[in-house]
Amino acid sequence: MPNSVEVNPDTCIVIGAGIGGMCAAAALAATFTNVVIFEKDSLSDPSASRKSIAQSQHLHSLLLGGRDILESLFPGFTDDLVAAGGNLLKAGLDQKIYEFGAWMPARDLGMTISTQSRTLLENVVRSRVKQIANIEIVDRAKVSQLCITDGTVTGVAVTRKDAEVEIHNSSLVIDSAGLSGTIAKQIPGLSPGIDEITETVSSKIVYVTALIKKPEAWRHTKENVLIVADPDKTRGGGLLDIENDTWVVSLNGRNGIEPPTDFKEWLAYAATLPDKAIWERIKECEPLQKLQKFNKPISFVRRFDKVDNLPLGYFPMGDTVNSVNPTFGQGMALALEHARALADSLDLSNKNAWQQAYLKTALGYSLKAWRQTVAYESMFNIEDETKKNKFAALQALVLNKHKQAHHDADVHLQLFKQAQMLG
Ligand SMILES: Cc1cc2nc3c(=O)[nH]c(=O)nc-3n(C[C@H](O)[C@H](O)[C@H](O)COP(=O)(O)OP(=O)(O)OC[C@H]3O[C@@H](n4cnc5c(N)ncnc54)[C@H](O)[C@@H]3O)c2cc1C
Repeated sequence: MPNSVEVNPDTCIVIGAGIGGMCAAAALAATFTNVVIFEKDSLSDPSASRKSIAQSQHLHSLLLGGRDILESLFPGFTDDLVAAGGNLLKAGLDQKIYEFGAWMPARDLGMTISTQSRTLLENVVRSRVKQIANIEIVDRAKVSQLCITDGTVTGVAVTRKDAEVEIHNSSLVIDSAGLSGTIAKQIPGLSPGIDEITETVSSKIVYVTALIKKPEAWRHTKENVLIVADPDKTRGGGLLDIENDTWVVSLNGRNGIEPPTDFKEWLAYAATLPDKAIWERIKECEPLQKLQKFNKPISFVRRFDKVDNLPLGYFPMGDTVNSVNPTFGQGMALALEHARALADSLDLSNKNAWQQAYLKTALGYSLKAWRQTVAYESMFNIEDETKKNKFAALQALVLNKHKQAHHDADVHLQLFKQAQMLG
């Protein structure tokens, strides 16, 4: 394979019109004549939950690090979210966080948090992407294969219902197919192979989620409540204040403990979390629809940066690269960081250099979140004394920081920024 090949700025193909794929397309639209996104789901009904993104029915926090990237891609994005029905909450005051046995202090941190359903967020991103003239979103079009010749990407094979397989040519393919995607696993002859570059850690986390109309007593209170599971309890949950005076409430359990899918039993489970704040808000409510369950047995990161012969012109991103513990709400912000890295590392004179620089930056972001996931997950396997002691040390450290945050606004702000992937 030649070392230095120029990038052909004609066409760029993106697999998947999820958060990552749409933002990658927007980030690259200024460089390429045409950007085509192939999406296997139908996008005709914006209110419908997406078959391939089953997690979208569950609580989705948009971290500020991710929102900043959305703002830079689509100026005025936060205003668009609010106009579409999303809420703006005061960071530090309206978002109550309970972790390691204590509540974070209540203090106005001078920033706002956007809360909305994952579906609304995606709709607003899609409407902004549709305003970019050289991006085309083709739905009900499944990429069935990556076409590769002599180690270089030449295009994709696309399957549509009741139609012949079509070949679409492009020397650049962004793989943003997410958790349901299989393209990365099908690339032949990778060395090391996909299984060898995949690091996993057991998560054994189950989400069960209800959509609830806010009761009259809470109608005018805008707030989120997050209760992070700790190893003693293995139960947690979150309540997000989303559009249409609705709460999306996700309860979770770990290591064999599952929130029930029957609403009455689910409510009773809410009362057993480390704190009763969520239960107190929902105890007299009814769900708007059937409860939804999501089982996440593992978290993973794929070290594409370690592959010697990744096809030239292939750029994996988002959940194709990593799927971390959802407790910290980092997945979308990571996909957005990858989208930004695609544009920031762009080197039109040398495709190979671009790919290397992109993978280095993208994996840098992924590994930072991955280390947090591994540290957190390992605390739940506390059958041995060493891990128990490790957890006790970490808990003491975090609680100490919390205590400092109560009387020191700078410490509070620093903790908040870390959690929001800012800076
Ligand atoms: C229970 C749970 C809760 C979560 N909570 C949060 C949270 O609070 N905050 C947060 O930021 N993240 C959260 N996440 C993570 C977040 O959902 C993902 O990280 C994010 O969706 C990744 O975006 P993506 O664009 O990479 O993939 P996706 O959003 O999965 O999009 C992939 C797209 O590719 C399409 N596709 C797949 N294969 C093909 C193909 N062959 N051809 C064409 N199209 C294809 C799919 O239909 C889909 O539209 C959570 C995850 C889970 C499981």
